[in-house]
Amino acid sequence: MLNTRLDSTVLKTRDNYISKLKELGVKTLGDLLTYFPRAYKDEAEFTKINELRTDEVNVVQGKLKSILNVPTRTGKVMTRAVVADETGEIPVLWFNQPYVKQQFFKGSDIILTGKLKYERGRSMLMSPKYEKPTGPMLHTGRIVPVYPETEGITSHWLREKIYMLLPYAKFFDDFMPQWILEENALMPLAEAIYHVHFAADEEHLGKARERLAFDELFLLQFLALKRKYYWQKGFSGEVKRVAGVNLEPFLDELPFKLTGAQLRTLQEVFADLERDFPMLRLVQGDVGSGKTAVAAAAIYAVKVAGYQSVLMAPTEILARQHFKNLTKLLTQFGFNVQLLVGSMTEAEHADVLRQLATGTCDLVIGTHALIQEGVNFARLGLVVIDEQHRFGVKQRNVFKAQGTPHMLNLSATPIPRTMALTIYGDQDLSVLDELPPGRQEIVTRLVPEEKRRDAELWVSDQVAKGRQVFVVCPLIEESEMLQVKAVTLEYERLRTDVFPQHRLALLHGRMKAEDKDEVMRQFSAGEIDILVSTSVIEVGIDVPNATIMMIEGADRFGLAQLHQFRGRVGRGEHQSYCFLFTDSGSPDALQRLKYMVKYNSGFDLAEMDLQLRGPGEIYGVKQSGIPDLRMATFSDKELLDRVRSAAERLVDEDVELKAYPALAAKIAKFEAASEMVDGV
Ligand code: ADP
Ligand code: MG
Repeated sequence: MLNTRLDSTVLKTRDNYISKLKELGVKTLGDLLTYFPRAYKDEAEFTKINELRTDEVNVVQGKLKSILNVPTRTGKVMTRAVVADETGEIPVLWFNQPYVKQQFFKGSDIILTGKLKYERGRSMLMSPKYEKPTGPMLHTGRIVPVYPETEGITSHWLREKIYMLLPYAKFFDDFMPQWILEENALMPLAEAIYHVHFAADEEHLGKARERLAFDELFLLQFLALKRKYYWQKGFSGEVKRVAGVNLEPFLDELPFKLTGAQLRTLQEVFADLERDFPMLRLVQGDVGSGKTAVAAAAIYAVKVAGYQSVLMAPTEILARQHFKNLTKLLTQFGFNVQLLVGSMTEAEHADVLRQLATGTCDLVIGTHALIQEGVNFARLGLVVIDEQHRFGVKQRNVFKAQGTPHMLNLSATPIPRTMALTIYGDQDLSVLDELPPGRQEIVTRLVPEEKRRDAELWVSDQVAKGRQVFVVCPLIEESEMLQVKAVTLEYERLRTDVFPQHRLALLHGRMKAEDKDEVMRQFSAGEIDILVSTSVIEVGIDVPNATIMMIEGADRFGLAQLHQFRGRVGRGEHQSYCFLFTDSGSPDALQRLKYMVKYNSGFDLAEMDLQLRGPGEIYGVKQSGIPDLRMATFSDKELLDRVRSAAERLVDEDVELKAYPALAAKIAKFEAASEMVDGV
């Protein structure tokens, strides 16, 4: 029934509406009923005319005593009316809505929702919304649903059509096991779908939304826990067990002492490496918390135990940086470390593949090039994925086919723990909640345009003292070519007008890999003072002598991205600074930038971002594995906890959902959809 295609006869509408709905992904009756409101307006109470409040929105029900259209001096139309109830009467005025008069007559019943204004010595309702009180009230005088709108499809239209289909809500089968419904006092699905659109009252609306939010989180959580279950209990390969490795020689060669958080995380990692199934662990740590050292220690131990490792990074610049650092650290132990990236020659590429397949290479570091066909390992023991939110579950599975190695995922975009446990619930979680000692707070400033010149002079001074600078140019989402053009222009301006006495270089995604590489090398070596770049320097780059991060068009970036940029400085001994520039007047954008000034911790910023924006956008950029939630929010910790305990119990009792075929079908559908989103 619910799979019935929407057509013009079902909806009593014109075909162009049907095709617009299709663009929204609304194709069936069931789709339209699950097209949920994004907000509500509470207009549940009528006000008597003698109790109307000035400058407030009032809802009035009455009879039209008069209505007429009057031309204005400027050639437009004004509609004047008077509405009366048993307590009195009030004038009404609409501008340029002559059609109101076609729908109502003198004597018609009418419901009006609008502000009462006091002007030229008298009160009147100004351009109120109107509705006929015959039939059910949909648009006023109730809790009014407000839908996500698109061109040509208004909330008004959706209300009428969805109301028409409401009797079909009863066909929604409740897929949730009865005991979960009971334990959580959840509203039955059919009822929830009814009330989420046209709630009888606040209480019903609350229960409806709670139920639908529960469902959303539950599907995510169950799927994650099911994956974890099969990774662990369902494991049937050969475990690459790593036990009893002496880390002392490695730790002795590290140029620093590990932090307590690094040591604790390493213990968790080593406990994983001794179990009967492969590790699947996510290490979350703020920018600069030293995730690489943790990974390096694991790589060291895995090699001592006789296995190969992979380190995959999302960009070539980052891969090359890891290659440089880890080669330096690990070759002294006799490691053969190789690089595999897209820009290598065919011969170089083939040589690395050969070394992987024969087992002579101990560690290969690279980009997506590592998951192309033809990459085979002699005895792969460990896969480390850096900045894992840039990759999907699919990538992980490519490596799984290589003899089920241990997986260690690193992520620098810290998210609240409850959210992490839901989205990444298939992994064990370690948190690096401590920065290496001596790290300074980075001084962050929002620089107004009139202070730009001062800031630039100050920066120039710092460069003269030997410091280095990043300049990040605004994001232009529409086209990479425009972006390249913009960053090139900015580079020219800075080079000729602002910093002519310094050495500048340009970096963007369209440059040849070897040119990018050369620029990064020169910057690291201190041969360049100021690096003007697009967001390609966002992740991972580590140049301790760089102390100033200037971000142009800062409002175009999400909080976590800004935090990542800022994390490029403050890595050495010198006090570091982050300057944010914006010409945006948007209060939202300015609020975000103020949070940047106020908070230095990525965890705090993530919480703020979660409150400011929807969860799908928590990092300002969409990322793999983070779903769009329509009903739930990740800030509802109490609900998340209830969802998790229900999902855990169900996975324990009946992971295949043999007793719950309706839920099994729902999960299968959800799983298929989430894998499509993950993509490569
Ligand atoms: P991230 O977690 O952002 O990937 P990195 O692994 O790049 O951080 O580490 C940031 C910097 O901190 C590097 O220069 C690294 O050598 C240094 N570092 C890591 N751990 C420590 C530590 N325990 N003490 C001092 N410096 C450290
Ligand atoms: Mg890193």
